[in-house]
Amino acid sequence: MHVFRLRGNFETLDIYSAALFELGARGLEEKPGEVWAYFPERIELPFPGEWQELPDTDWLEAYKRDLQPVRAGPFVVLAPWHTWEGPEKPIVIEPGMAFGTGHHETTRMALETLAERVEPGMRVLDLGTGSGILAIGAALLGAEALGIDIDPAVIPQAIENARRNQVKVQFQVGSLDEAYDPLAETAPQAPPAQPAPTPLVQGPFDLVVANLYAELHTYFAQKYRELFGICGTLILTGILAEREGIVKSALEAAGFGLLARRQEGEWVCLTYAA
Ligand code: SAM
Repeated sequence: MHVFRLRGNFETLDIYSAALFELGARGLEEKPGEVWAYFPERIELPFPGEWQELPDTDWLEAYKRDLQPVRAGPFVVLAPWHTWEGPEKPIVIEPGMAFGTGHHETTRMALETLAERVEPGMRVLDLGTGSGILAIGAALLGAEALGIDIDPAVIPQAIENARRNQVKVQFQVGSLDEAYDPLAETAPQAPPAQPAPTPLVQGPFDLVVANLYAELHTYFAQKYRELFGICGTLILTGILAEREGIVKSALEAAGFGLLARRQEGEWVCLTYAA
C-alpha cells in the first residue's frame, strides 16, 4: 500500500478530500499534523505532500479501527463490523473502496435532505452514486431508486452494499452526458483513440440527488431539467461555499426555484423545486 502524506488536518485539507477520492484514494486518516491518503498505486498528484510505502495490512487495520458510525438525519451509517443499538435506521457500507461512507459532510447533508423529501413510491435518481449510499438511503425511505456513476469500478461495490442493506436498488454505469469533465478543460489532454460512449439516463424522476461538484452542476443545469416531468425535487451537493454562486446562477437560469440550503463547514447542499 502507498500512502501520500499531506501536512494539515481533516479541516484544512477538506477541499482536497473529494479530489483525492476521485483520483483513487481508498481512504483518508488523520495523524498528528498530517492527513494520510491511502492509494493502491503511486500516481501523479497535484497536491504538496510526500509518498511512503506501507505493508498492505497496516493501513487497513488502522483505518478500520478508527472508523466510527456516523449519524445523518434518521440514519446511522455503519461499517459491516459495527454494531448499533440506537433508534436510527442503519445503512451498512463497506468503507474505503468508493466515495460515500457517510464521513464526508456532503454525503451526510444529502442523506439528511433525502430523509426530509423522499416519500414512499417516488422514483429517485442518485447521480454519481459511488458506494450507492444515497440510492440505498432513498430505497430505505420507500423510494424506487436508481444509482448511476460514470466510473464502472464503483458499480459492483454499490450492488454489494444494496445487498448488505437488503434493499432493491438498480445501479448502472452512466451519466447525463458523454464523459465530460469541465475541470479538465484547464489542462487539455489528448482524447482516447476510441472513447467509449457513456450510457445516458432517462427520466422522468420525482427526485434527483447529485453529490458532484459545482462546475459539473453548472454544466448539467439544463440536463437536470430534462430529468423531471411536471414537477420534482433536485438536491445538489459537493459544492464548496465559495463556488455556490455559479451553481445558483445556472440553476436559476434553468428555471429551478431554491427551496432550502444547508451548510456544514465549507460544503453546501442546495435543494431546488423543478
Ligand atoms: N453519492 C456518493 C456520496 O454522496 O457520498 C458519492 C459521491 S462522489 C463525491 C462523486 C461520484 O460521482 C463519484 O463516484 C464519481 O465517479 C461520480 N461522477 C463524477 N463525474 C460524473 C459524471 N459526469 N456523471 C456521473 N457520475 C459522475
